[in-house]
Amino acid sequence: MMILNDGNQIPSLGFGTYLSKDEEVKQAVLAALKAGYRHIDTAMIYENEAGVGEAIKESGVPREELFITTKLWNEDIRKENAEEALKLSLKKLQLDYIDLYLIHWPAKGYVKAWNQLIELQKSGLIKSIGVSNFNPHHLKDLEESGVVPAINQVEIHPKLQQADLIAYCKERGIQVQAWGPLMQAALFQDETLKAIGEKYNKSTAQVMLRWHLQRGVNALPKSVTPSRIEANYQIFDFELSKEDMNQIAEMNEGKRVGPDPETFDF
Ligand code: NDP
Repeated sequence: MMILNDGNQIPSLGFGTYLSKDEEVKQAVLAALKAGYRHIDTAMIYENEAGVGEAIKESGVPREELFITTKLWNEDIRKENAEEALKLSLKKLQLDYIDLYLIHWPAKGYVKAWNQLIELQKSGLIKSIGVSNFNPHHLKDLEESGVVPAINQVEIHPKLQQADLIAYCKERGIQVQAWGPLMQAALFQDETLKAIGEKYNKSTAQVMLRWHLQRGVNALPKSVTPSRIEANYQIFDFELSKEDMNQIAEMNEGKRVGPDPETFDF
């Protein structure tokens, strides 16, 4: 568990659902809950909240054991529509509160959206509030509100390590989450990661996830394959040495697989 700046706790490994739809996402989330994950990451724009909700209901896992995140999409940010968007997400998820609600991208109007989230948190519909894909200058714009985001969810993997952004967030008590923690499957053949994995009898995916954990980053690996879902959760029984962590640190190239928050256009 990691403790957020508002006192709430978040399981240190989450489960991603981007690009999984309907029945597929339902089966994936059921497999994840069976494997031990208690923290699920979805978003309005993934169009799979209903499937996630069905899996939660069918799993029988008590609500208070779960940590569910969803996100406010850009169109609703621009339209200042946070309240309706949140209520629609809750309905699709069949939940009466969300553990974490994030502003998905720093789309025009994000400061207003942040103030709306602060009010919605007071209403009890959301436990924690945060942002995603925010750089320091976006975070600075929120300072006037007096409320520091609990989370900043950004792209992080060994080729885009974001050390400066992580340090900036850490200084301000903002927990960083990694999306694309496995670089969206682009790094599994990497020789450095493979060699490190062999030492511990772990896969490259497990090495990457352990690396996030040891950096204090909350990772959200996605898979729809039950064996991978299970394996990705098996990262709490080994520890990468300082030398291995340093070797991975050297892999950084500042290389993104997703859009850049400074230039995105959706
Ligand atoms: P990931 O880095 O999690 O990679 C997912 C890919 O890796 C899938 O193709 C999956 O395949 C494959 N994979 C997973 N585990 C293994 C394994 N052990 N061995 C081999 N292949 C594996 O990318 P995502 O972009 O999905 O990021 C994770 C989550 O972060 C998302 O699902 C979403 O919840 C969130 N996200 C947030 C964004 C934001 O803007 N805030 C943007 C993008 C993602 P398969 O499924 O076929 O098993």
